[in-house]
Amino acid sequence: MNLEDTIAAIATPVGEGGIGMIRISGVDSLSIANDIFKLRGKKETVLKTHRLYFGKLHTARGPIDDVCLVYMKAPRSYTRQDTIEISCHGSPAVLRRALKAVTQSGARMAEPGEFTKRAFLNGRIDLAQAEGVIDLIKARSEGAAKAAFNMMEGGLSSRINAVKEKLVSVTAQLEASIDFPDEELVTATDEKIIHQLDNAVHQMERMIESYERGKFLKRGMGLAIIGKPNVGKSSLLNALLEEDHAIVTEHPGTTRDLIRAQAEIMGLAVELIDTAGLNPDPDHVESIGIARALKAAEGADAVIGVFDGSGQWDDADSEVLKTLKNASRHLAVINKIDLPQKLKWPHSVDTTGTPIAISAKTHRGLDELIKKISKLAGDIGKSVTEEPVVTRRRHIEIFSRIAEDLKRAKDELPVGREVAAASVWDALEEIKRFTGESYTDEVLDTIFDEFCIGK
Ligand code: GDP
Repeated sequence: MNLEDTIAAIATPVGEGGIGMIRISGVDSLSIANDIFKLRGKKETVLKTHRLYFGKLHTARGPIDDVCLVYMKAPRSYTRQDTIEISCHGSPAVLRRALKAVTQSGARMAEPGEFTKRAFLNGRIDLAQAEGVIDLIKARSEGAAKAAFNMMEGGLSSRINAVKEKLVSVTAQLEASIDFPDEELVTATDEKIIHQLDNAVHQMERMIESYERGKFLKRGMGLAIIGKPNVGKSSLLNALLEEDHAIVTEHPGTTRDLIRAQAEIMGLAVELIDTAGLNPDPDHVESIGIARALKAAEGADAVIGVFDGSGQWDDADSEVLKTLKNASRHLAVINKIDLPQKLKWPHSVDTTGTPIAISAKTHRGLDELIKKISKLAGDIGKSVTEEPVVTRRRHIEIFSRIAEDLKRAKDELPVGREVAAASVWDALEEIKRFTGESYTDEVLDTIFDEFCIGK
């Protein structure tokens, strides 16, 4: 891995924008800047670190743009290397010319994630923090952004490092009795060691549990709305979208018979899948409704079943309820409570919990429904700042192996302290993989391949 050469990239997204940024990192950054940047009215520029300069970007062939430039002297920069950032006008043509000027002055084009890779390899951040950076860039909801920010700030790493310290102390206790078996040392009892191992296992298990919610945070939750025709599924979808001020996109008809809309519900990205958009066949109203309901429920992470409170319960409702109960995460909703109520909820067969009464028309009961939807995913959107949430498979695999190693150490304790100590060392090795203290090129490639160019 070459850290010695100087890399450059356009750091802002492709397309027109107010500002477009070129980032340069490496030993030649300053000389490149001196080559292509001129302060207004001055022949020579001595750039001081961490100051913003306004001037002209140019080549021998003429000026390119009026720009702002900042020089960050190593190690006080993102990569811990000499870094230059040039803010141009956000035109793809200007940025291409600017980047060309930079590369002609001696930089090479950066690979995706190469700046962050340098930040990692130069010890500014650990591997989990680098993963936090990419997750933050890709976050699709407030909750996902909070979890990623926490990871980038080292929230997860500090938890793991605390466990690491304890385990190092456990190995010291175990090895003290190996090294000096005959001496009358006050060594830790098995009981005390088991207690410490249990503690660490417990911490790992709590992290592992959080993954169930964390994966929803990261990729969002698919939520299907099912029910007979005319019970108010589309109205509910629209009501949820109206309540939600952070709609990303609404793209009806992505598939022929389903409407999908992106919403953010209590910090969680939710894809609402509605079975509206088809004209029910008048001869097969019920069966078609159910066929659609089944289709929508398939593959969704959670399902909402809608029932019309102003209508009579019928066989089709029973079918919907049956489908609903098959989904591992589900909610029953009685809609149209603004109208006189006729529906007799079949409490005898109900194992779905109390249905939530709402009116998609007046929005009554919608707040409660939104809270319940958030609960379906573990209520995480709002709470991730206090408690780090595991959102990455790599992390969960490492934590599971640590828990296994420590449980094994416990079992091995009666066999011998040396054997148990070896298992604790295995766990410590896993922690090193988590933080990147030890890594393989393969692992780095997988992580940094996810990045965009310029980060
Ligand atoms: P879908 O076929 O299940 O998607 O049902 P729609 O959302 O299209 O609604 C069917 C009809 O019920 C429409 O005329 C809606 O205006 C009406 N509707 C939906 N929700 C409510 C509600 O909460 N109260 C009242 N009074 N009418 C509603």
